[in-house]
Amino acid sequence: MHRWETVVDLAILAIAVYVFLRWTAENRLRVMLLGTSGLFGLAALAARIDLPLAAWLFQAFGFVAVLFLVIIFQPELRHLVMRTEGWFRRRSSVGDPAPAHLAVADAAFALARQKVGALLIVVRQHSVRELAGGGVEIGATPSSPLLQALFQKNSPLHDGGVVLELDKLTRAGVLLPLTHRTDLPAQFGTRHRAALGISERCDAKVVVVSEERGDVTLVHRECWRHAEEEEELVEFLGPVGQPEPPRVALSLRGLVFGHFKQKFTALAITGVVWGFTLVSSGTAIRDFQVPVEFTNPPVGMDVSKPSATHLEMRVRGPRWAVETLRPDQFTVRFDLGQSGTGATRLVRPSDVVNLPPAVSVEWLRPDEITVNLVPARRARMN
Ligand code: ATP
Ligand code: MG
Repeated sequence: MHRWETVVDLAILAIAVYVFLRWTAENRLRVMLLGTSGLFGLAALAARIDLPLAAWLFQAFGFVAVLFLVIIFQPELRHLVMRTEGWFRRRSSVGDPAPAHLAVADAAFALARQKVGALLIVVRQHSVRELAGGGVEIGATPSSPLLQALFQKNSPLHDGGVVLELDKLTRAGVLLPLTHRTDLPAQFGTRHRAALGISERCDAKVVVVSEERGDVTLVHRECWRHAEEEEELVEFLGPVGQPEPPRVALSLRGLVFGHFKQKFTALAITGVVWGFTLVSSGTAIRDFQVPVEFTNPPVGMDVSKPSATHLEMRVRGPRWAVETLRPDQFTVRFDLGQSGTGATRLVRPSDVVNLPPAVSVEWLRPDEITVNLVPARRARMN
Protein backbone atom coordinates (compact mmCIF):
# COMPACT_ATOMS: atom_id res chain seq x y z
CA MET A 1 0.00 0.00 0.00
CA HIS A 2 1.88 3.06 -1.22
CA ARG A 3 -0.89 5.60 -1.12
CA TRP A 4 -0.23 8.90 0.59
CA GLU A 5 -3.33 8.31 2.74
CA THR A 6 -1.52 5.39 4.37
CA VAL A 7 1.46 7.58 5.19
CA VAL A 8 -0.84 10.24 6.71
CA ASP A 9 -2.72 7.50 8.57
CA LEU A 10 0.46 6.09 10.07
CA ALA A 11 1.86 9.54 10.84
CA ILE A 12 -1.33 10.42 12.77
CA LEU A 13 -1.08 7.18 14.69
CA ALA A 14 2.61 7.75 15.49
CA ILE A 15 1.95 11.32 16.64
CA ALA A 16 -1.01 10.22 18.78
CA VAL A 17 1.09 7.51 20.44
CA TYR A 18 3.92 10.02 21.02
CA VAL A 19 1.58 12.61 22.56
CA PHE A 20 0.10 9.89 24.77
CA LEU A 21 3.58 8.85 25.91
CA ARG A 22 4.60 12.46 26.62
CA TRP A 23 1.38 13.18 28.47
CA THR A 24 1.57 10.20 30.69
CA ALA A 25 5.32 10.36 31.24
CA GLU A 26 6.31 9.25 34.73
CA ASN A 27 2.74 8.40 35.38
CA ARG A 28 1.37 5.10 36.59
CA LEU A 29 -1.72 5.91 34.54
CA ARG A 30 0.23 4.85 31.47
CA VAL A 31 0.52 1.23 32.62
CA MET A 32 -3.22 1.05 33.22
CA LEU A 33 -4.07 2.69 29.89
CA LEU A 34 -1.74 0.36 28.04
CA GLY A 35 -3.20 -2.64 29.88
CA THR A 36 -6.73 -1.57 28.99
CA SER A 37 -5.86 -1.03 25.33
CA GLY A 38 -4.18 -4.44 25.41
CA LEU A 39 -7.45 -6.04 26.54
CA PHE A 40 -9.35 -4.43 23.65
CA GLY A 41 -6.53 -5.49 21.32
CA LEU A 42 -6.88 -9.09 22.51
CA ALA A 43 -10.66 -8.86 22.05
CA ALA A 44 -10.16 -7.71 18.44
CA LEU A 45 -7.65 -10.48 17.83
CA ALA A 46 -9.94 -13.13 19.29
CA ALA A 47 -12.83 -11.88 17.16
CA ARG A 48 -10.63 -11.97 14.07
CA ILE A 49 -9.64 -15.59 14.61
CA ASP A 50 -13.24 -16.59 15.36
CA LEU A 51 -13.16 -17.04 19.13
CA PRO A 52 -16.37 -15.19 20.00
CA LEU A 53 -16.46 -16.19 23.68
CA ALA A 54 -12.88 -15.14 24.31
CA ALA A 55 -13.52 -11.89 22.39
CA TRP A 56 -16.56 -11.20 24.54
CA LEU A 57 -14.60 -11.94 27.72
CA PHE A 58 -11.68 -9.65 26.81
CA GLN A 59 -14.07 -6.92 25.82
CA ALA A 60 -15.95 -7.23 29.11
CA PHE A 61 -12.65 -7.05 31.03
CA GLY A 62 -11.72 -4.04 28.94
CA PHE A 63 -14.90 -2.16 29.88
CA VAL A 64 -14.44 -3.02 33.57
CA ALA A 65 -10.84 -1.74 33.32
CA VAL A 66 -12.07 1.54 31.77
CA LEU A 67 -14.48 1.92 34.67
CA PHE A 68 -11.69 1.32 37.19
CA LEU A 69 -9.47 3.71 35.29
CA VAL A 70 -11.93 6.54 35.50
CA ILE A 71 -12.62 5.94 39.19
CA ILE A 72 -9.09 5.26 40.43
CA PHE A 73 -7.26 7.75 38.26
CA GLN A 74 -9.70 10.60 38.43
CA PRO A 75 -7.06 13.02 39.77
CA GLU A 76 -4.51 11.97 37.15
CA LEU A 77 -7.04 12.27 34.32
CA ARG A 78 -7.99 15.68 35.56
CA HIS A 79 -4.34 16.56 35.66
CA LEU A 80 -3.88 15.48 32.05
CA VAL A 81 -6.65 17.84 30.99
CA MET A 82 -5.16 20.62 33.11
CA ARG A 83 -1.82 20.28 31.40
CA THR A 84 -3.42 21.12 28.08
CA GLU A 85 -4.74 24.35 29.61
CA GLY A 86 -1.18 25.61 29.80
CA TRP A 87 -0.86 25.41 26.01
CA PHE A 88 -3.12 28.42 25.71
CA ARG A 89 -1.67 30.38 28.59
CA ARG A 90 -0.34 33.83 27.77
CA ARG A 91 3.42 34.02 27.88
CA SER A 92 5.44 37.07 28.65
CA SER A 93 8.70 37.85 27.00
CA VAL A 94 12.02 37.08 28.59
CA GLY A 95 13.63 40.16 30.09
CA ASP A 96 14.19 41.79 33.45
CA PRO A 97 13.03 39.91 36.53
CA ALA A 98 9.28 40.20 36.93
CA PRO A 99 8.14 42.59 39.70
CA ALA A 100 6.00 39.74 41.05
CA HIS A 101 9.08 37.56 41.45
CA LEU A 102 11.05 40.34 43.09
CA ALA A 103 8.18 40.71 45.57
CA VAL A 104 8.21 36.95 46.26
CA ALA A 105 11.97 36.97 46.82
CA ASP A 106 11.87 39.99 49.09
CA ALA A 107 8.92 38.61 51.10
CA ALA A 108 10.42 35.11 51.41
CA PHE A 109 13.68 36.35 52.93
CA ALA A 110 11.93 38.89 55.12
CA LEU A 111 9.64 36.12 56.45
CA ALA A 112 12.64 33.82 56.92
CA ARG A 113 14.34 36.48 59.05
CA GLN A 114 11.15 36.82 61.10
CA LYS A 115 10.87 33.00 61.31
CA VAL A 116 7.39 33.09 59.87
CA GLY A 117 6.46 30.02 57.80
CA ALA A 118 5.29 30.53 54.21
CA LEU A 119 4.46 28.56 51.09
CA LEU A 120 4.34 30.32 47.70
CA ILE A 121 3.30 28.53 44.51
CA VAL A 122 4.39 30.22 41.29
CA VAL A 123 2.37 28.79 38.41
CA ARG A 124 4.15 28.09 35.13
CA GLN A 125 2.47 26.41 32.18
CA HIS A 126 0.24 23.92 33.98
CA SER A 127 -2.87 25.10 35.74
CA VAL A 128 -2.93 24.25 39.46
CA ARG A 129 -6.61 24.98 40.00
CA GLU A 130 -7.44 21.31 40.52
CA LEU A 131 -4.39 20.62 42.67
CA ALA A 132 -4.42 23.57 45.04
CA GLY A 133 -7.79 23.37 46.71
CA GLY A 134 -9.71 25.71 48.97
CA GLY A 135 -8.45 29.12 49.89
CA VAL A 136 -9.72 32.57 49.06
CA GLU A 137 -9.67 34.36 45.71
CA ILE A 138 -7.52 37.49 45.89
CA GLY A 139 -6.56 38.79 42.46
CA ALA A 140 -4.13 41.45 43.69
CA THR A 141 -0.81 42.69 42.38
CA PRO A 142 1.73 40.93 44.57
CA SER A 143 3.97 43.03 46.74
CA SER A 144 6.38 42.10 49.49
CA PRO A 145 4.35 43.78 52.30
CA LEU A 146 1.14 42.07 51.13
CA LEU A 147 2.79 38.63 51.01
CA GLN A 148 4.39 39.16 54.40
CA ALA A 149 1.10 40.27 55.90
CA LEU A 150 -0.73 37.20 54.58
CA PHE A 151 1.64 34.78 56.33
CA GLN A 152 1.70 36.44 59.73
CA LYS A 153 0.36 34.16 62.46
CA ASN A 154 -2.59 36.45 63.16
CA SER A 155 -3.64 36.56 59.49
CA PRO A 156 -6.74 34.45 58.80
CA LEU A 157 -5.06 33.26 55.59
CA HIS A 158 -1.66 32.31 57.01
CA ASP A 159 -2.33 28.55 56.83
CA GLY A 160 -1.65 26.89 53.51
CA GLY A 161 -0.05 28.48 50.47
CA VAL A 162 -0.53 31.43 48.14
CA VAL A 163 -0.80 31.04 44.37
CA LEU A 164 0.82 33.47 41.92
CA GLU A 165 -0.22 33.31 38.27
CA LEU A 166 1.57 35.51 35.76
CA ASP A 167 1.72 38.91 37.47
CA LYS A 168 -1.16 38.33 39.90
CA LEU A 169 -1.54 36.94 43.38
CA THR A 170 -4.66 34.89 42.70
CA ARG A 171 -5.38 32.93 45.87
CA ALA A 172 -4.29 32.46 49.45
CA GLY A 173 -4.84 29.76 52.07
CA VAL A 174 -4.80 26.90 49.54
CA LEU A 175 -4.12 23.32 50.51
CA LEU A 176 -1.82 21.18 48.41
CA PRO A 177 -1.47 17.43 47.99
CA LEU A 178 1.34 15.98 50.13
CA THR A 179 4.16 13.91 48.70
CA HIS A 180 4.37 10.24 49.62
CA ARG A 181 8.16 10.20 49.50
CA THR A 182 10.02 8.53 52.32
CA ASP A 183 13.53 9.75 51.47
CA LEU A 184 13.13 13.32 52.74
CA PRO A 185 15.05 14.99 55.57
CA ALA A 186 13.50 14.47 58.98
CA GLN A 187 12.92 18.22 59.43
CA PHE A 188 10.57 18.30 56.40
CA GLY A 189 7.09 18.51 57.87
CA THR A 190 3.78 18.99 56.08
CA ARG A 191 4.64 22.42 54.61
CA HIS A 192 7.67 21.03 52.77
CA ARG A 193 5.84 17.83 51.91
CA ALA A 194 3.02 19.90 50.39
CA ALA A 195 5.55 21.82 48.26
CA LEU A 196 7.04 18.58 46.95
CA GLY A 197 3.55 17.11 46.50
CA ILE A 198 2.44 19.79 44.06
CA SER A 199 5.80 19.86 42.28
CA GLU A 200 5.38 16.15 41.47
CA ARG A 201 2.10 16.85 39.72
CA CYS A 202 2.77 19.98 37.70
CA ASP A 203 5.51 22.37 36.58
CA ALA A 204 4.87 25.04 39.27
CA LYS A 205 7.84 26.44 41.19
CA VAL A 206 7.40 26.51 44.93
CA VAL A 207 9.10 28.60 47.59
CA VAL A 208 8.95 27.37 51.18
CA VAL A 209 9.94 29.39 54.21
CA SER A 210 10.51 27.36 57.34
CA GLU A 211 9.21 28.83 60.54
CA GLU A 212 11.36 26.42 62.57
CA ARG A 213 14.73 27.13 60.93
CA GLY A 214 14.09 30.39 59.11
CA ASP A 215 15.47 29.06 55.83
CA VAL A 216 14.15 29.30 52.29
CA THR A 217 13.74 26.15 50.16
CA LEU A 218 13.12 26.14 46.41
CA VAL A 219 11.12 23.23 45.03
CA HIS A 220 10.58 22.30 41.40
CA ARG A 221 9.85 19.03 39.65
CA GLU A 222 10.38 16.89 42.76
CA CYS A 223 13.79 18.49 43.46
CA TRP A 224 14.58 20.90 46.24
CA ARG A 225 17.47 23.05 47.40
CA HIS A 226 18.05 25.88 49.83
CA ALA A 227 18.41 29.45 48.65
CA GLU A 228 20.88 31.72 50.40
CA GLU A 229 19.96 35.02 48.80
CA GLU A 230 17.20 36.80 46.94
CA GLU A 231 18.97 36.81 43.55
CA GLU A 232 19.12 33.03 43.65
CA LEU A 233 15.38 32.88 44.22
CA VAL A 234 14.62 35.35 41.42
CA GLU A 235 16.80 33.36 39.06
CA PHE A 236 15.07 30.14 40.12
CA LEU A 237 11.66 31.62 39.27
CA GLY A 238 12.82 32.71 35.82
CA PRO A 239 10.63 34.80 33.51
CA VAL A 240 6.92 35.05 34.34
CA GLY A 241 4.84 32.14 33.12
CA GLN A 242 7.62 30.80 30.94
CA PRO A 243 8.21 27.10 30.79
CA GLU A 244 11.61 25.80 31.78
CA PRO A 245 14.46 27.05 29.63
CA PRO A 246 13.71 24.90 26.60
CA ARG A 247 15.01 21.50 27.52
CA VAL A 248 15.60 20.79 23.85
CA ALA A 249 16.12 23.91 21.78
CA LEU A 250 13.94 24.13 18.70
CA SER A 251 16.66 22.88 16.43
CA LEU A 252 16.70 20.09 13.91
CA ARG A 253 18.73 18.07 16.37
CA GLY A 254 16.11 18.74 19.05
CA LEU A 255 13.25 17.84 16.75
CA VAL A 256 14.84 14.53 15.89
CA PHE A 257 16.49 13.54 19.14
CA GLY A 258 14.39 15.32 21.79
CA HIS A 259 12.47 12.74 23.82
CA PHE A 260 14.13 10.17 21.63
CA LYS A 261 12.98 7.21 23.71
CA GLN A 262 9.33 8.21 23.42
CA LYS A 263 9.63 8.94 19.71
CA PHE A 264 11.29 5.61 19.11
CA THR A 265 8.61 3.81 21.14
CA ALA A 266 5.86 5.63 19.22
CA LEU A 267 7.39 4.55 15.91
CA ALA A 268 7.84 1.00 17.12
CA ILE A 269 4.22 0.79 18.31
CA THR A 270 3.03 2.25 14.99
CA GLY A 271 5.09 -0.35 13.13
CA VAL A 272 3.63 -3.16 15.19
CA VAL A 273 0.06 -1.88 14.72
CA TRP A 274 0.63 -1.52 10.98
CA GLY A 275 2.12 -5.00 10.74
CA PHE A 276 -0.77 -6.35 12.75
CA THR A 277 -3.39 -4.75 10.50
CA LEU A 278 -1.59 -6.06 7.42
CA VAL A 279 -1.43 -9.58 8.74
CA SER A 280 -4.84 -9.65 10.33
CA SER A 281 -6.90 -7.83 7.72
CA GLY A 282 -7.61 -11.09 5.88
CA THR A 283 -8.00 -11.53 2.15
CA ALA A 284 -10.45 -9.90 -0.22
CA ILE A 285 -11.53 -10.28 -3.83
CA ARG A 286 -12.64 -7.56 -6.23
CA ASP A 287 -13.80 -7.44 -9.83
CA PHE A 288 -12.73 -4.82 -12.36
CA GLN A 289 -13.45 -3.95 -15.98
CA VAL A 290 -10.01 -3.69 -17.49
CA PRO A 291 -9.04 -2.31 -20.94
CA VAL A 292 -7.07 -4.55 -23.29
CA GLU A 293 -3.88 -3.41 -24.97
CA PHE A 294 -1.86 -5.20 -27.67
CA THR A 295 1.89 -4.81 -27.82
CA ASN A 296 4.66 -5.79 -30.12
CA PRO A 297 2.67 -6.60 -33.33
CA PRO A 298 4.69 -8.23 -36.15
CA VAL A 299 6.32 -5.68 -38.43
CA GLY A 300 3.86 -4.13 -40.89
CA MET A 301 0.86 -5.74 -39.18
CA ASP A 302 -1.89 -4.18 -37.17
CA VAL A 303 -4.65 -5.44 -34.93
CA SER A 304 -8.10 -5.52 -36.39
CA LYS A 305 -11.42 -6.46 -34.86
CA PRO A 306 -10.41 -7.69 -31.41
CA SER A 307 -13.21 -9.81 -29.94
CA ALA A 308 -13.13 -7.71 -26.78
CA THR A 309 -11.78 -4.29 -25.85
CA HIS A 310 -12.29 -4.87 -22.13
CA LEU A 311 -11.99 -7.91 -19.92
CA GLU A 312 -13.55 -8.64 -16.59
CA MET A 313 -10.83 -9.32 -14.05
CA ARG A 314 -11.14 -10.77 -10.57
CA VAL A 315 -8.23 -10.16 -8.21
CA ARG A 316 -7.46 -11.62 -4.82
CA GLY A 317 -5.05 -10.39 -2.15
CA PRO A 318 -4.68 -9.01 1.38
CA ARG A 319 -7.64 -6.79 2.20
CA TRP A 320 -5.46 -3.71 2.82
CA ALA A 321 -3.97 -4.03 -0.66
CA VAL A 322 -7.17 -4.93 -2.51
CA GLU A 323 -9.18 -2.12 -0.94
CA THR A 324 -6.79 0.51 -2.18
CA LEU A 325 -6.94 -0.56 -5.86
CA ARG A 326 -8.49 1.93 -8.29
CA PRO A 327 -10.69 0.65 -11.13
CA ASP A 328 -8.82 2.72 -13.71
CA GLN A 329 -5.32 1.70 -12.73
CA PHE A 330 -5.08 -1.58 -14.68
CA THR A 331 -4.47 -2.55 -18.28
CA VAL A 332 -4.26 -6.11 -19.56
CA ARG A 333 -1.53 -6.50 -22.17
CA PHE A 334 -1.25 -9.20 -24.82
CA ASP A 335 2.05 -9.67 -26.57
CA LEU A 336 1.69 -10.25 -30.29
CA GLY A 337 5.40 -10.87 -30.82
CA GLN A 338 4.93 -14.58 -31.59
CA SER A 339 1.72 -14.23 -33.60
CA GLY A 340 1.36 -14.92 -37.29
CA THR A 341 -1.10 -13.21 -39.59
CA GLY A 342 -4.87 -13.53 -39.81
CA ALA A 343 -7.14 -14.63 -36.98
CA THR A 344 -5.16 -15.19 -33.80
CA ARG A 345 -6.31 -16.61 -30.46
CA LEU A 346 -4.83 -14.99 -27.40
CA VAL A 347 -5.18 -16.92 -24.17
CA ARG A 348 -2.61 -15.66 -21.70
CA PRO A 349 -1.90 -11.95 -21.25
CA SER A 350 1.75 -11.00 -21.11
CA ASP A 351 1.20 -8.52 -18.34
CA VAL A 352 -1.38 -6.86 -16.12
CA VAL A 353 -0.09 -3.32 -15.75
CA ASN A 354 -0.04 -1.84 -12.23
CA LEU A 355 -0.90 -5.02 -10.37
CA PRO A 356 0.70 -4.77 -6.90
CA PRO A 357 2.92 -7.73 -5.99
CA ALA A 358 0.70 -8.84 -3.11
CA VAL A 359 -2.37 -9.10 -5.38
CA SER A 360 -3.00 -11.90 -7.87
CA VAL A 361 -5.43 -12.31 -10.76
CA GLU A 362 -7.99 -15.01 -10.07
CA TRP A 363 -9.53 -15.03 -13.56
CA LEU A 364 -10.08 -12.97 -16.68
CA ARG A 365 -13.32 -13.18 -18.68
CA PRO A 366 -13.64 -14.01 -21.43
CA ASP A 367 -10.64 -16.28 -20.94
CA GLU A 368 -9.56 -15.90 -24.53
CA ILE A 369 -9.85 -13.22 -27.16
CA THR A 370 -9.29 -13.30 -30.86
CA VAL A 371 -7.78 -10.65 -33.02
CA ASN A 372 -7.19 -10.36 -36.72
CA LEU A 373 -3.68 -9.42 -37.69
CA VAL A 374 -3.77 -7.65 -41.01
CA PRO A 375 -1.36 -5.54 -43.02
CA ALA A 376 -1.10 -2.15 -41.42
CA ARG A 377 -2.88 -0.15 -44.09
CA ARG A 378 -5.97 -2.43 -44.15
CA ALA A 379 -6.27 -2.28 -40.43
CA ARG A 380 -6.38 1.48 -40.53
CA MET A 381 -9.05 1.39 -43.25
CA ASN A 382 -11.18 -0.94 -41.09
P1 ATP B 1 8.39 24.36 59.09
O1 ATP B 1 9.82 24.12 58.72
O2 ATP B 1 7.91 25.73 58.81
O3 ATP B 1 8.04 23.89 60.48
P2 ATP B 1 7.34 21.91 58.12
O4 ATP B 1 7.70 21.38 56.79
O5 ATP B 1 8.00 21.31 59.32
O6 ATP B 1 7.56 23.46 58.09
P3 ATP B 1 4.86 21.90 59.48
O7 ATP B 1 5.61 22.33 60.69
O8 ATP B 1 4.05 20.66 59.53
O9 ATP B 1 5.80 21.77 58.21
O10 ATP B 1 3.98 23.13 58.98
C1 ATP B 1 2.62 23.22 59.14
C2 ATP B 1 2.11 24.27 58.27
O11 ATP B 1 2.26 23.89 56.90
C3 ATP B 1 0.62 24.45 58.43
O12 ATP B 1 0.38 25.42 59.45
C4 ATP B 1 0.16 24.93 57.12
O13 ATP B 1 0.29 26.34 57.00
C5 ATP B 1 1.15 24.32 56.19
N1 ATP B 1 0.57 23.12 55.57
C6 ATP B 1 0.40 21.92 56.09
N2 ATP B 1 -0.19 21.06 55.25
C7 ATP B 1 -0.40 21.76 54.12
C8 ATP B 1 -0.98 21.44 52.87
N3 ATP B 1 -1.45 20.23 52.59
N4 ATP B 1 -1.03 22.41 51.94
C9 ATP B 1 -0.57 23.64 52.21
N5 ATP B 1 -0.02 23.99 53.37
C10 ATP B 1 0.08 23.07 54.33
MG1 MG C 1 7.58 21.98 61.39
